Amino acid sequence: MTVSFSLSPEAAAPRLHVARRTLERLRSVPALAERYPGHLDADSLDGLAGLPPLAKDDLNTALAHLEPAAEQAATWLFQSGGSTGAPKVGYAPTGFYMAGVHAHWQPLDRTDVFVNAWGAGRMWGAHFLAAALADLSGCRIIALGSVAKEEFGDWLAFLAARKVTAIGGTPSVLRLWFAHARATGLRLPSLRKVLWLGEAWQPQLADDLAVVAPRARRWGMFGSTETWVVGTNTPHCPADVFHPLPDHLVHADADGLLDFTTLDPEVLNPVLRYRTGDAGGLTTCPCGRPEPAVRIAGRRDSVVQVRGLGLDVDELIARAEREPGVARAQVVLTERGGRATGVEVLVLTGRPDPGPGPGAGSSPDSAADVERLRKELFAATFTLSTAFQHDPESFRVRPVDELVSNGRTGKTAALVVREES
Ligand SMILES: [Zn+2]
Repeated sequence: MTVSFSLSPEAAAPRLHVARRTLERLRSVPALAERYPGHLDADSLDGLAGLPPLAKDDLNTALAHLEPAAEQAATWLFQSGGSTGAPKVGYAPTGFYMAGVHAHWQPLDRTDVFVNAWGAGRMWGAHFLAAALADLSGCRIIALGSVAKEEFGDWLAFLAARKVTAIGGTPSVLRLWFAHARATGLRLPSLRKVLWLGEAWQPQLADDLAVVAPRARRWGMFGSTETWVVGTNTPHCPADVFHPLPDHLVHADADGLLDFTTLDPEVLNPVLRYRTGDAGGLTTCPCGRPEPAVRIAGRRDSVVQVRGLGLDVDELIARAEREPGVARAQVVLTERGGRATGVEVLVLTGRPDPGPGPGAGSSPDSAADVERLRKELFAATFTLSTAFQHDPESFRVRPVDELVSNGRTGKTAALVVREES
């Protein structure tokens, strides 16, 4: 077995007692005990690599039994899990483990005026962990949260007047902010730092930033509601490469799936070889830091069943996004009683005001272009041409002004599943 953890055995050793304790906690869960027989241990990286990976459902089973509580201060409950299925709950102590993040990653300092634009409430953790980081940095904090589209103009004017230097949010939400600023001619010359978490970075954001806030640079965090922040990057790192923090082990399996083990002594969720569904591998970052970094290659759970065939949503989206003029695409699957009745690809065809110049006018928003793209995608995607052989009209392509986003997190998922009544 190849051991491919992001920490050396010497660096991990002093913290492995945390993994050992987590293993004991998992063993105490009746439904999971059989998976962790006595000969398995977590005393070494080799031992850890021999443990079975933990899936989302396993973690929920464990949490329901363990009901963790913080030793000091409060225990916070957050909602984890995707856009489908019943809400799942994860736990974190006050502070959200951000002291460990701040010790190694300080995008903010006392001179910053930081806008926390992650939505607060509805049991989502991002706003709170960003607040904890900003608190540790001693900067000025504007706790903005979610803002409706029609309020962007007023708020942007306010933020410009306050000479904000930093903003943080989900890339899909930041994109709305900066596209609006660009379209309306508003500029944020003081802005230097854009913190992001929750989704992959979007290249269109960099395009808008270059106009709206040319001195701004991106600072990324990577993690999940179960693991909290696992790694970070700086403007010198590629947007999909993150440096794991010392309290986190990242392991890449031979099949390219990543799993995560938390070595923070305060850990509440039993995160031991936990698979988030993210794929990727260990790499060397061109920023020059010598230790192994993690390249995130997107999610591996992108295959959805359509009439008994697997449809690779990411692949379909990538195909649609290769079309000139398509900024982003999203797949909407409609089902009735568990059977797919239709698949629609929504294509975002540009910004609110593309203005003159190359790119303007080349969007596929004429009926002929949309039909051509529809035919191309249909023919090139085996699952679609097979599943909808007898009702090809059930596969559609539709230009839209905005994609469907999650009202709680602001994230724009690649796949939206709708149940027809
Ligand atoms: Zn780097």
